[in-house]
Amino acid sequence: MLRILSALFVSVASAVTAQQTEEEQFIWDNLTGTFYHELAHALVDQFEIPIYGQEEDAADVFAAFMIAKWHKPTEARRIARAVAIAFYSDYHRFEDRGEDVYWAGVHGPALQRMYNHLCVFIGSNPTLHRPLGEAFEMDPDRLDYCGAEFHQANAAWGPVLDRMERLKGVGTVKIEGFSVFRADVVGKWATRTMPRLDPLMGLPADLPVRVEPCRQSNAFYDSGWNIIQMCIEQSDAHREQFREFGGVFQVQ
Ligand SMILES: [Zn+2]
Repeated sequence: MLRILSALFVSVASAVTAQQTEEEQFIWDNLTGTFYHELAHALVDQFEIPIYGQEEDAADVFAAFMIAKWHKPTEARRIARAVAIAFYSDYHRFEDRGEDVYWAGVHGPALQRMYNHLCVFIGSNPTLHRPLGEAFEMDPDRLDYCGAEFHQANAAWGPVLDRMERLKGVGTVKIEGFSVFRADVVGKWATRTMPRLDPLMGLPADLPVRVEPCRQSNAFYDSGWNIIQMCIEQSDAHREQFREFGGVFQVQ
C-alpha cells in the first residue's frame, strides 16, 4: 500500500500572514477542519466507501485524521484546538438556551463530537498531544485509548488516501463561482488554501468548492451537483466563538 501522504506534512493552513490576527487564524483553522469534514462526505460518495455507523461521525474522524496527517504537529495542534473550541461553543450555546440535545439529529451531541475529534487527533502522537486533551479536561482513561482510536482511523481512511494518491492528475479541488466574495474571510481562506490542497489530492473528477452566502453558518457537500459549499456566514460564527472561548483551553 502507498503511504506517501502519511509521511508528508505540508503547511496547508499555515497560510495566515503575519498581519493576520489570532482571531482570523482561529476562523481559518475552523474552515480547514470543516472543509476536511465535507471532503469526507465527497469521498464517501465518490469512492462508494461503506460506512459502519453514522456518516457524520466518520466525517469527523476523517477531519481529525487529516489535521494530523497534512499539517506539521504545532500547526495541527492549533487547528485541532480551534475545532474543539467550536464544538464546545456549540454545546455551550445549547446549554445557555436550556435546550435539550436534538437526539434525532444526524450529528452527535456537540460535546461528544469535541471529545471524539480530540481523541483521534491526540492519538496521532499521544505523547506530544496529550496536554491538549488535558486542557479540555478529558477523562484520562479515554486519553489512554486515543492511540488505538487513531490506529483505527488510519486503518479506515489510510487506504482512501492511497486511492487519492493514485488519482493525482485526474481530478482535484477547484474554487468555483465566488469571485464576488473573494474579499470575504471565507473567500480569502479558499483562495489561499485550495491551491495548496490541489497538488496533494487526486479525485475521480474535479470537485468544485463554492464560497457563497447561505443565510446560515454552514458548509455541505452536494452529491447532486458534486460541489462543496462553504458558506460565508461561517466567519461571523467562528468570530463569535473565538471572542467567547478563544482564550480558554490553553495548552500548558
Ligand atoms: Zn457532515
